[in-house]
Amino acid sequence: MIKLAGRAGSIKPSPTLSIDAKAKAMKADGIDVVGFGVGEPDFDTPGHIKDAAIKAIGDGYTKYMAVGGIDPLKDAIIEKLRRDNNLEYQRNEVIVSCGAKHSLYNLAQAMYGPGDEVMIPAPYWVSYPDQVLLNEAEPVIIPTRQEDKFALTPEQLEKHITPKTKALILNSPSNPTGLAYDKNVLEAVAELAVKHDFYVISDEIYEKLVYDGFEHVSIASLGDEIKARTFVVNGVSKSHAMTGWRMGYTAGPAEVIKVMTNIQSQSTSNPCSITQMASIEALNGPMDFLDEMLSEFDKRRRYMVERLNAMDGISCLMPVGAFYAFPNVSGIYGRSTTGRKINSSKDLAIYLLDEAKVAAVHGEAFGDDRFIRLSYATSMANIEKGLDRIEKALAQIS
Ligand code: PMP
Ligand code: GLU
Repeated sequence: MIKLAGRAGSIKPSPTLSIDAKAKAMKADGIDVVGFGVGEPDFDTPGHIKDAAIKAIGDGYTKYMAVGGIDPLKDAIIEKLRRDNNLEYQRNEVIVSCGAKHSLYNLAQAMYGPGDEVMIPAPYWVSYPDQVLLNEAEPVIIPTRQEDKFALTPEQLEKHITPKTKALILNSPSNPTGLAYDKNVLEAVAELAVKHDFYVISDEIYEKLVYDGFEHVSIASLGDEIKARTFVVNGVSKSHAMTGWRMGYTAGPAEVIKVMTNIQSQSTSNPCSITQMASIEALNGPMDFLDEMLSEFDKRRRYMVERLNAMDGISCLMPVGAFYAFPNVSGIYGRSTTGRKINSSKDLAIYLLDEAKVAAVHGEAFGDDRFIRLSYATSMANIEKGLDRIEKALAQIS
């Protein structure tokens, strides 16, 4: 048996991507699977962005570029942060990476090491704890409550701060809960970060996907002291339906951005040249497609949550952001059907995939076994079909 590096042994594959791969393999075998697994917009990348990419190829943007992103793209990001988030950055405070996941990964490599604790409110996005572990630091999971709409309270946060605390990973709007932080809670969190001198990694990838008039606030915009301790991570994957293009960015203190750029220069080199040119158009160009995407997501969100809440043993909060429903399914635990007992989120996810041919992600992957995650970034017809199947499958267990 090959002896692996210690830090690599504990790393799991991304469960969201694994479930997507499984659903796609079933589809390739001719099985009619409804995919509520992976979270990516089902809309196509807007035409003007694709045109910019085609033009970039024609214009010869097919060579190595500046490792941390070309200046016109950094300038488009700086302008976006000024326009949307009331934040001022210089070019040396911004790095472009191959997706927000890569941004978070580079940040983890630059910031976390043995002896560091990184606080992660649960339910959390699947990659946060593994990226901490990969850097031999310790994830400190802070459970939040459905009754509090999964918002971390300052009291809960304070209880987990120790002399080893290095950072807090905050994700608002949140994957998987769909809930988002109000300004007053962010202010209290910022106060604690400044008082106890830890960093905040603010993952704002779902910023543009909000409903019911919710107003996203970046924690970095709440004052100079918190800005100096915050890394804003964002990208175009969700806002511009560009998951496959791989563009994400980080804005934060220049000292760390420089180290992240060095790491990138020794690993991936520059993010794809064509993607960078297309991303300039994405950030500077029109955003009218977003209204259509949002109104569609909004309809599906209401429909899915309403139907889930009508099912026996299930309770689901109405998300205010992102594109996931995160129902509490623990009311079903203990029930069984021929040869099968449902005692965990994994049991239920496997049952739904096997029996109902519906792919969903078990809540355990997000740090709370009482839930499952269903993405509504798929057509209304699929949502209706998938929910009909879930309803039928659940009626068979008692
Ligand atoms: N953060 C969160 C919370 C996400 O859901 C995702 C989705 N993959 C990412 C980061 C990574 O996005 P990207 O596709 O830009 O790497
Ligand atoms: N963020 C998406 C999800 O949670 C994409 C999958 C991934 O990057 O892990 O489904």
